[in-house]
Amino acid sequence: MSKGPMKNHYQGSDWKPWLVTLLAGGVFAGIPAVSAGTQGDLHRRAMQAASQVESQVIAWRRDFHQHPELGNREFRTSEAVANHLRALGIETRTGIAQTGVVGLLLGGKAGPVVALRADMDALPVTERTPVPFASRERAVYNGEEVGVMHACGHDAHVAILMGVAQVLAGLRDELPGTVKFIFQPAEEGAPAGEEGGARLMVQEGVLDNPKVDAIFGLHTDALRTAGEISSRPEGLMASAQDFRIKVRGRQTHGSSPWTGLDPVVVAAQIVYSLQTIVSRQVDVTREVAVVTVGRIQGGVRSNIIPEEVELVGTIRTLDDRTRELVHDRIRRIAQGVAAAAGTTATVEIPLTTDYPVTYNHPQLTEWAWPILLKVAGPDRVARIPPRTVAEDFSFYAAKVPGFFFFLGGRPPELPAQEAADHHTPDFYLDESSFITGVRALAALAIEFLGRPWTPTGAGVSSGQPVRYP
Ligand SMILES: [Zn+2]
Ligand SMILES: [Zn+2]
Repeated sequence: MSKGPMKNHYQGSDWKPWLVTLLAGGVFAGIPAVSAGTQGDLHRRAMQAASQVESQVIAWRRDFHQHPELGNREFRTSEAVANHLRALGIETRTGIAQTGVVGLLLGGKAGPVVALRADMDALPVTERTPVPFASRERAVYNGEEVGVMHACGHDAHVAILMGVAQVLAGLRDELPGTVKFIFQPAEEGAPAGEEGGARLMVQEGVLDNPKVDAIFGLHTDALRTAGEISSRPEGLMASAQDFRIKVRGRQTHGSSPWTGLDPVVVAAQIVYSLQTIVSRQVDVTREVAVVTVGRIQGGVRSNIIPEEVELVGTIRTLDDRTRELVHDRIRRIAQGVAAAAGTTATVEIPLTTDYPVTYNHPQLTEWAWPILLKVAGPDRVARIPPRTVAEDFSFYAAKVPGFFFFLGGRPPELPAQEAADHHTPDFYLDESSFITGVRALAALAIEFLGRPWTPTGAGVSSGQPVRYP
């Protein structure tokens, strides 16, 4: 380990004064619509209940961390979730989109429907952290034996949402509306040949019956300070598609290339030429795009020029126009470069991955912001630039108004440049951050039910243009 001691950072975090203020009950007094009456009282009780559930959230997370499960295989996790929801008296459905679980908490009073979402899947990564609850699990992934690790923090997302369910179930009689808890499989993508994730959850109707009026979700962020919340209106995360280019030449002996058509050289030219899409063809003052070739495959030995070379890569964009432009240019370049050499190229976009932009409804974001400020503290909520990672929360937010935010999980004393990123064997989260996640989701739900935000104007679609900071 090169990151210094991995102690439990749960104790002694530096924002306790804020916590004291919260528990004193004065924090939500500042939100105009909740300054009086039961809503303010609900907030105060939720904040207190969150403190009581904190140690359980940490214990649940450690358990999930030690027993990670790959996408569409979250059997143990979803059983734990379903048992917990049922024990709370929450109406629970299982087996949605493979292993998904949906809980419906009916409040004692009529009102809108708010959905809260957590993803449950782990990754084919072999854990290297020295925590006592480190994963030793192994599994077969796409035909290969791999280590399995919660290297993206979805264990924390599940535990946090279980905590929120407990907090809100305790307030059910006074809740003016319905809370839908969505525990989703396979955010990182389903195994080859399977369907899964948010797209399938939406297809199977999780946003209907009862119809969801707004959806909230969070993602841990191992690089930002623990307990810090960050987000932005409009495009928060990129649209992602994978692509495949097959270059077909004519096989021949490696000693006499002129007797064939060499797809290896053409593939190399295509990789270079694809870089001109971002550097020469995208308006760099307005648009963001990434084109990455992640795999090149072709040939079997040194002296055979193969018949075919395959390139596989990913495309990231933050608006529909740029996405279409990049797709078009990839096709044009691959086919044009191949034709120039007398070979052919077939281009498939997308292949298995096709995520819309994760779009935060601008008005819902502005509505949510003061609540986040109250929960996390005024200096712990940040507006950030969009990111080129993708998130399948985008499928929900493309159907109903959505707001998604990041919850920092880096121990405050660990320099940012030394923190391990998501999807790496050293990925680590400071557990002191989880309570902020519980509080934030609980507060957003309570506030939404008591003071529903009414959409005015369009903007739910992922197809909205994205403004940059
Ligand atoms: Zn991930
Ligand atoms: Zn993730």
